[in-house]
Amino acid sequence: MRREGAARVRGMPKGEDQAERLARLAREAHERAEAHDLAADGGEASDAHHHPAEAATDAEARERELRAHLRLREEEERLLRLAEAAQRGEYGICIDCGEKIPEARLEIVPDAERCVACQQAASGGRRR
Ligand SMILES: [Zn+2]
Repeated sequence: MRREGAARVRGMPKGEDQAERLARLAREAHERAEAHDLAADGGEASDAHHHPAEAATDAEARERELRAHLRLREEEERLLRLAEAAQRGEYGICIDCGEKIPEARLEIVPDAERCVACQQAASGGRRR
C-alpha cells in the first residue's frame, strides 16, 4: 500500500476480491484433496487384486495418491493463510524480504508467498 499501490490498479479489484479468489482456490484444493482421499480409500476392496504384481502397482498408486493428497492439503492451508493475509491487505508481500510480489507472478502462482529470488533461495536454488 505504498506508492505503486495506487498506480498499479489494473482493473483487478484488490483486497476483498483477492481474498475471495484465494478462498475459492483453497476450497478447490480441499475438494481435490477429498477426491484423492476417496480414491485412496476406494481401493479398500483389495481382494479384487489377487495378482501380487497388481497389488504392487496398487500400492504405488496409493502412495502417489497420498502424496498428491498431502500436497493439496498444504496448498489449501497456504491459500487459506493467504486469503487471511489478503483480508488484512497483506497479500502479495514476500514473507522473506517484505517486497511486493509482482502481480504477474501472483496470477500464475496465486499461492506464492515469496518473490522469485526468495523462493529460489528458500528451495535451495531449485525452481518450484
Ligand atoms: Zn523476497
